[in-house]
Amino acid sequence: MQTHSELFFDTHVHLDQLPAGLDPATEVALAQRQGIHRFLLPGVEPQHWQRLLELATTLSGCLAAPGVHPLAAESWNEDTANRLLSLLDNPQVVAVGEIGLDGYLAQPTAEIQEQALRDQLRLARQTGLPVLLHCRKATGRLLEILHQEQAADCGGIWHAFSGSLETAQAATQLNFAIAFGGPLTWPGARRGPEVLKKLSAEWIVLESDAPDLAPHPHRGETNRPAYLGLVAERVAALRGWSMEETARITTANACRVLGLK
Ligand SMILES: [Zn+2]
Repeated sequence: MQTHSELFFDTHVHLDQLPAGLDPATEVALAQRQGIHRFLLPGVEPQHWQRLLELATTLSGCLAAPGVHPLAAESWNEDTANRLLSLLDNPQVVAVGEIGLDGYLAQPTAEIQEQALRDQLRLARQTGLPVLLHCRKATGRLLEILHQEQAADCGGIWHAFSGSLETAQAATQLNFAIAFGGPLTWPGARRGPEVLKKLSAEWIVLESDAPDLAPHPHRGETNRPAYLGLVAERVAALRGWSMEETARITTANACRVLGLK
């Protein structure tokens, strides 16, 4: 029989963005049958926050992290900030996310992305909530902003991490856990497995990022929350942990950085 601490925690799953034909309640139930019992639902754009909160309130094991993704940074303004602030006392809201920098996007500009990031980091610190980070091709700049904004006070999770071991360690010094997902399982993956093997165990967490980044052998298909087990198996193999240890360690880490019991 599994105890609570031996269940998996999916720290990043876009249940509000599953394609037509995949029902969030059914997907959660399927994942729960595989031992995945907690789900953190990140925000992307303000117009989806309502749906995010509805899902987190009605589906068992689900929590929400509303926020403005860098791709939607143009929607960040005083009204949006006030709306976000008003959601943060909801008991189902445990983080602000996903926020960060995306260097692959020409628009919104870096300046607009940075302003939304800084303001949301301040809001997180002010309300005592951790944050979920998204970063592509802007690692050095993100670390610089995290230092400037004293983000170690809130910490959180660096989602879809694809950087070096040095960057991962710099992030953990700022109280950010590193989330490993589907890309870890892809044949030919090199840097992710190396980082996972060398990173201190207390900073490793799991994420599906469904419906994106499906693990092997589903790469390129719609990712589903139940596939998190494939990521967990890879983590277990690379670290030499049993599945029970993998669940216990990664779930305890997620709960610690998110301030959950
Ligand atoms: Zn995401």
